[in-house]
Amino acid sequence: MPNRFVYYFGNGHADGGREDKALLGGKGANLAEMTRIGIPVPPGFTITTEVCRLYLRDQRYPEGITQQVADSVRRLESDSGKTLGGARAPLLVSVRSGGAVSMPGMMDTILNLGLNDVSAEALARESRDARFAYDSYRRFVQMYGEVVMGVPGRAFEQRLSALKQERGVEQDTDLTADDLRGLVAGFRDLVREHSGERFPEDPEEQLWGAIEAVFRSWNAERAIAYRRVHGIPDYMGTAVSVVAMAYGNMGSDSGTGVAFTRNPSTGEREFFGEFLVNAQGEDVVAGIRTPLSIDQMAAKLPAAFEQLLVVQAKLEQHFREMQDLEFTVERGRLYLLQTRTGKRTARAAVRTAVDMVAEGLIDRAEAVRRIDPKQLDQLLHPRLDPTANVHVFVTGLPASPGAASGRVVFDPDVAATRAADGEPVILVREETSPDDFHGMVAARAVVTARGGMTSHAAVVARGMGKCCVVGASGLVFDHDGTSCAASDVTISEGEWVTVDGTTGRVLLGEVATVEPVLGDEFHLLMSWADELRTMKVRANADTPADAAAAREFGAEGIGLCRTEHMFFEGDRIQVMREMILAETSAARRAALDRLLPMQRADFEGIFRAMDGFPVTVRLVDPPLHEFLPRTPEEIEQFATKAAVSPALVTRMVEKHRESNPMLGHRGVRLSITYPEIAEMQARAIFEAAAAVAADGIRVHPEIMVPLVADANELAIQRKAIVRIADEILGPDGGAITYLIGTMIELPRAALLAGEIAQHAEFFSFGTNDLTQTTFGISRDDAATFLPRYIELGIIQDDPFQVLDRAGVGQLVQMATWEGRRRRSDLKVGICGEHGGEPSSVAFFYETGLDYVSCSPFRVPIARLAAAQAALSNGGSTRSVAEKRVHRAESRDAEESLVRPAKPALKS
Ligand code: PEP
Ligand code: MG
Repeated sequence: MPNRFVYYFGNGHADGGREDKALLGGKGANLAEMTRIGIPVPPGFTITTEVCRLYLRDQRYPEGITQQVADSVRRLESDSGKTLGGARAPLLVSVRSGGAVSMPGMMDTILNLGLNDVSAEALARESRDARFAYDSYRRFVQMYGEVVMGVPGRAFEQRLSALKQERGVEQDTDLTADDLRGLVAGFRDLVREHSGERFPEDPEEQLWGAIEAVFRSWNAERAIAYRRVHGIPDYMGTAVSVVAMAYGNMGSDSGTGVAFTRNPSTGEREFFGEFLVNAQGEDVVAGIRTPLSIDQMAAKLPAAFEQLLVVQAKLEQHFREMQDLEFTVERGRLYLLQTRTGKRTARAAVRTAVDMVAEGLIDRAEAVRRIDPKQLDQLLHPRLDPTANVHVFVTGLPASPGAASGRVVFDPDVAATRAADGEPVILVREETSPDDFHGMVAARAVVTARGGMTSHAAVVARGMGKCCVVGASGLVFDHDGTSCAASDVTISEGEWVTVDGTTGRVLLGEVATVEPVLGDEFHLLMSWADELRTMKVRANADTPADAAAAREFGAEGIGLCRTEHMFFEGDRIQVMREMILAETSAARRAALDRLLPMQRADFEGIFRAMDGFPVTVRLVDPPLHEFLPRTPEEIEQFATKAAVSPALVTRMVEKHRESNPMLGHRGVRLSITYPEIAEMQARAIFEAAAAVAADGIRVHPEIMVPLVADANELAIQRKAIVRIADEILGPDGGAITYLIGTMIELPRAALLAGEIAQHAEFFSFGTNDLTQTTFGISRDDAATFLPRYIELGIIQDDPFQVLDRAGVGQLVQMATWEGRRRRSDLKVGICGEHGGEPSSVAFFYETGLDYVSCSPFRVPIARLAAAQAALSNGGSTRSVAEKRVHRAESRDAEESLVRPAKPALKS
């Protein structure tokens, strides 16, 4: 028995069904399914995605397919009682693409196929509408000429315009049947002139031309680009569905429309849609005529409407999912042309899922599975009013979602002052440093010209839930810092812009935004997710306010408290600078003594907010130079306050200058060379813990040492920390249990995780630095070239956003295993930005991590992603290595089916 390449549907019977999406594409599978369950669908057949893969690989069709297509055409003729290209009862078909995952508008479609001079004449006669027949014919020649024969669309448009001008008419609809007949001849001449080939008259030849064009459109530039953005694998291929045409433009008893079984923007249970009387599908989509709301169909086409109501209810019950559908009414007869899962807003997605559980259509696990975690961002942040007109000023990376408008300022001090006066400001900088923190806090949104997704601005803004665009490399700043330009538009300080952190666009002027609302349904759905997940979710939070926000979002502790930001508040930076620039240990200690009570107060606030949950506090991490004054004015100011000479300060600042600060004097190295700093921090942590514990707060501090590369570094730190704990809390921490652990954020630490685990009770992967150091790509400079890498297909995703499983993931996995081998109760988590990215969360779950930690606003996303990971693994932690082998094998098998004609990389 030869392979089956063609699946037929019609007359109440279908060869395939919804379970065949991979083979028949979403469209083909659902047409078959609808036929199977007795919904009126025009008959047709689907050529499988396998044929597409084979054709693109071998540049020829597999054996047996010609006969299978010919047989299906005969069967279609017999079911419809019409003949392809016939002189009587001509059969016309549409030829449509359809992959397993929908790629709307990305691939090609041909309508009205089967028309030639003979069948057009027959159609004119039998429909008693010559205008309709020749209009369909000219549309077919145009579409086919463009898609299959490569004639530029505008050539047809020009000829059509010329004819309208000649006839003195404005609308296509004012042309007569004879005009259109003449136009068909003209269009065919055009095809010959442009392509050097005659337009095919033979319907079989037309059909094969169209099939080939659809297959080829799988590799059209726009389709490839769409797949990149949506993570659809290139090897899948498209199916081709050949379906008998149904016409909605055959008079006032005909029409066409699109509808949803529920409201796609609110999720309300109401039949929702639009339709047009006497029109074709494109007319609804093209927006030339204003469609009517679907309820008005009751008056215009009552019988068909009644039938449609029954069909839509049946579809939803059958698919147990909100459907969108396309339909046509041909002379009073209803036909469904397509159905698929309806696209919806996040709000509608949550409402629909929760309602469907109440209606008994799906269970809770299915409801949780159905929500795209990434879509939750829409619910958590303000966003642009979708109806607003926008003018893009510049585009960068979408570092932190949300939308905000304000007046542009370029200086963080100015931002802070203006914001204090109640002015909404947007901070626009070349890049940001911890020094700019107060300006970022004050601003409604932050834009930088440089930096990638884990640059300082990105990380800090996400932490605050503040909208942010980074790496807007089109921005050019003027010398005196009062304006910036992109393309040919200049914006001066004080002018309005709107930042859309969800798409990475900076827009001119003030654009309206819509506030987020978290309804009861959202909380209910999240509670189901929490029941299903096993991995904990914590938040990265640096202040008591962030900690409180994190709890609101459901965080089960703090996975990373970056203490450095605390040193920038108010006068602290002055003391911090004095500490760094101190020339003796005694002077340094004096400065630290002034910082101690401030840090202690911060920790107390955080511990109180996190009552009962663990709090991981990281010891000081950034390179020292980030704390130092830079400009001559800053140096002058500092020197005056500290009562030292500016020349001395300049000299000291110079002494601390480094060529590669990110790989320089930072992390644990600071605590090794300046042990007083870490000691002060440990003291502040334990004193705060003791103080809140006395008030009945259940406190679980976890002290984390950053940037460890060698076990000895940690051993030294551990000893110092334990000594201070013993001093403050008594032996073994007294009544307070605390942990000491380390970040794993350097490849060497991952490689030597077993040794390091001897001194660590927990590991937390710093995947920002680990990505940076594994790739050798500076996280602050990645924006200059990474987008190009992705465009070229060298890498699929930005590794600073989506964890690079193949490389960085291997280190994570190895360190987890080695660490646990040495210490079986080692707690393992991750606090890099990947902790809030759904596919990375799935990986961490599979690796067996105890928790992920991310910015407060991403906590709900991580909770949902963790639940989905548990569901898709059936609650078990399958070895990633095992999976990788499996993936590699199936990938090899799939790759062998991919086109050899094109290189793997786009040029
Ligand atoms: C990391 O490196 O992943 C991390 C969390 O630390 P930071 O981003 O502060 O360097
Ligand atoms: Mg780090």
